[in-house]
Amino acid sequence: MSFSLHGIGVSSGIAIGYAHITSSARVEVPQYMLDRQYIDEELARFDAAILTTREELETLRLHIPAHAPAELSAFLDMHLMFLGDSTIAEEPKRLISETQCNAEWALAQQMEALVARFEEIEDPYLRSRQDDVVQVVQRVLKVLLGHPSHLPLDVNFDEERILVAHELSPADMILFKSVRFAAFITDLGGTTSHTAILARSMAIPSVMALHNARGLIRDHDLLIVDGRDGVVIVNPDESALAEYRLRQNQWRIDTEKLKRIKSSKSATLDGTPIALMANIELLSDLDAVKAAGAQGIGLFRSEFMFLNRSDLPSEDEQYEFYKTVTESLDGKPVTIRTLDLGADKQAPWGHSVADNPALGLRAIRLCLAEPGLFQTQLRAILRASHHGRVNILIPMLASFIELRQTLQHIDTAKASLRKDGLKFDEGIAVGGMIEIPAAALSAPFFAEQLDFLSIGTNDLIQYTLAIDRADDSVAHLYDPLHPAVLNLIQHTIRAGAKAGKPVSVCGEMAGDPQLTRLLLGLGLRTFSMQAASLLQVKQQVLKAQLEELAPLTQRLLKNTDPDKTAQLLGRLNS
Ligand code: PEP
Ligand code: MG
Repeated sequence: MSFSLHGIGVSSGIAIGYAHITSSARVEVPQYMLDRQYIDEELARFDAAILTTREELETLRLHIPAHAPAELSAFLDMHLMFLGDSTIAEEPKRLISETQCNAEWALAQQMEALVARFEEIEDPYLRSRQDDVVQVVQRVLKVLLGHPSHLPLDVNFDEERILVAHELSPADMILFKSVRFAAFITDLGGTTSHTAILARSMAIPSVMALHNARGLIRDHDLLIVDGRDGVVIVNPDESALAEYRLRQNQWRIDTEKLKRIKSSKSATLDGTPIALMANIELLSDLDAVKAAGAQGIGLFRSEFMFLNRSDLPSEDEQYEFYKTVTESLDGKPVTIRTLDLGADKQAPWGHSVADNPALGLRAIRLCLAEPGLFQTQLRAILRASHHGRVNILIPMLASFIELRQTLQHIDTAKASLRKDGLKFDEGIAVGGMIEIPAAALSAPFFAEQLDFLSIGTNDLIQYTLAIDRADDSVAHLYDPLHPAVLNLIQHTIRAGAKAGKPVSVCGEMAGDPQLTRLLLGLGLRTFSMQAASLLQVKQQVLKAQLEELAPLTQRLLKNTDPDKTAQLLGRLNS
């Protein structure tokens, strides 16, 4: 039966392929009693599941992407170690034999007992290791239940496959970078969640917030995914297939055509130069940065190097990583954002997750609370600055004290490098992200104290409108065109202009071609976005006449009628 599902299109493009169901949610486990004669068979089934899981983990280790953090294998080693431990590999067998229960139930019981024991541990780091136990047990359960592996990295698809998941974390997405899926669709997630941002960086069509796709779609159903309109058609009929094949073709032709403007100078019709920079997360993004002709990296989300591992990268490892990026940019600027861990990017070590993680110990707050961690990163970034044009960007600044402490940390790192005789750029520029309303309202102060500002609209919208950017149930309220948001952006741009300091936008608004003229009208001259969007934005820049934009932009800033907003934006873009 053919039916369609509607969600939020988070990464444009059209894909047609077969569903590949996966899940990162806790598996539901059935319970039943076995006749005594089947116990040996059940024990063998359990042993076989442990063996299959071991093979899966070992395959995963073999398929770690070339540019993934080296310690990813240590993370998998730890899971293999848990799997080999008698509490997981042997104890459930005792339960099966003694109580005649099924293998899944025995394992799930054992997991609950282990988790309860971990809960009693006082040390937060050790306590958080219970998550690893749960993940390992879930893998075994999925094998027992006949589910495919959660991360099918060993699969060599001979047909287009579309990953269907309840939820994907940014850490999962990094691993999926090495598997060629034609599209991603998930039940949960919002358009500016980091998972969605990663999907865009991979230029793979994606639809999120489908609510129950995971329940309604069966493995190997044929799917059409329209990542622009947020539509998924399950088991389409011939006419729908023909229609979407045409659209897919047109999309490919349009994307090819755009490449023609790659080397044209980025300026508006009246000759005002507009800097178009790229956002990156991993080394593997660099090819796309070059292919799009970006003028530099406006946002390097350094925290992605800290995910999917159980330890911290050393100063040398970070230095090598930043140096590789810096050198590959051939003298173009690289803006390295210091760690923005917390919220939806939890490292598997350190602090426990708070009830409101987006308002908790995140980004610069976490770094100031962990001076050792911060110093290590600052030293690594400073050392990399010797090899090209590096800027430091501080995420989530809100208070003046934080800024003062941060600048002191940078001075300390510089002094320690001088003492060690290590070279760095003495004049390295330090900028701040404006992503909290308090910071936007205090932009004149931050502009005066810093070398540049970068507006993180993803968080600025989240914190201004009190909308969790990763929560699909409030995604319809997440509104970049809310006059409060636009006024904060304009206020920040003006504060930068007054202080003579450059201001960029590096949130997802910068990569939305529908908003390019609006941002130009607000006075923005530097955009930083996923490389995949850069040429579409450039196309808008090349067609824009700056003096025509101001009056309509100012009307949008004052407008409170949502119908009129769409109308005004339409006129601005026509
Ligand atoms: C932002 O908040 O707009 C931003 C660019 O940072 P991130 O998306 O990584 O939070
Ligand atoms: Mg942010």
